Amino acid sequence: MSDIMIDARGIIKRFNIGKENELEILHGVDLKVRKGEFVSVVGQSGSGKSTLMNIIGILDKPTKGSYILDGIDIAKAKDNQLCAIRNQKIGFVFQTYNLIPRTSALKNVELPMLYAGVKARERKEKAMELLELVGMGERTDHKPDELSGGQKQRVAIARALVNDPAIILADEPTGALDSATGRAVMDLFHKLNEEKGITIVFITHSNELAEETGRILTLRDGMIIGERQGTNQNSYVKAASNF
Ligand code: ADP
Ligand code: MG
Repeated sequence: MSDIMIDARGIIKRFNIGKENELEILHGVDLKVRKGEFVSVVGQSGSGKSTLMNIIGILDKPTKGSYILDGIDIAKAKDNQLCAIRNQKIGFVFQTYNLIPRTSALKNVELPMLYAGVKARERKEKAMELLELVGMGERTDHKPDELSGGQKQRVAIARALVNDPAIILADEPTGALDSATGRAVMDLFHKLNEEKGITIVFITHSNELAEETGRILTLRDGMIIGERQGTNQNSYVKAASNF
């Protein structure tokens, strides 16, 4: 078994912008992440972070380049397989939470399991367990409107965990939160990385938060221009001793 979770090489992404016009946004990005690593990607707005995350999360396809996810060659998988791979392997967390507004925290977390055909009782048990884990056990009946930003993000993180994902892809998860709340959400990511061994790719504008992950990659104008170690060497060392 390889110790590499994400192995993307030479990723080029072009978007069609009108008649026969293409805009190249990613110019050959290599991204390798070990199992159990906590990595952050920083870069200015418009540098291509979300475009890269969408490709790593199999929400979009690269124009060119190869991508092996946990040993699976994504280019060779069929469309219906891609959906299953994504659901099994990846939990997504976004800046805007993307919760269903008029439905309780509990039902929001249950929803992906409902789609997957999990039985009601098992759904509820799992959702309750995850809401406890993220510190929302007391607010399972609250609707998103009745929760603060940080609480909504905790619910969204619980929802991202329903399929026991190997990877969490978080696209500016603290971007809409004040710094104290962002800090608390960050602690939750550390806990998930350390206690559950979940590989995390964390996209952020905050150099301060990035600094405390294991490795920081800087994206500028669609290219990785730098890589440095962060203070959480635990994630990296653990990842390295996994094999
Ligand atoms: P970031 O997340 O770093 O702010 P994005 O990946 O969202 O950056 O966007 C990078 C660049 O790609 C931006 O200039 C954006 O306008 C462009 N872009 C993103 N998606 C599309 C698309 N579907 N069509 C055309 N251009 C796009
Ligand atoms: Mg973005």
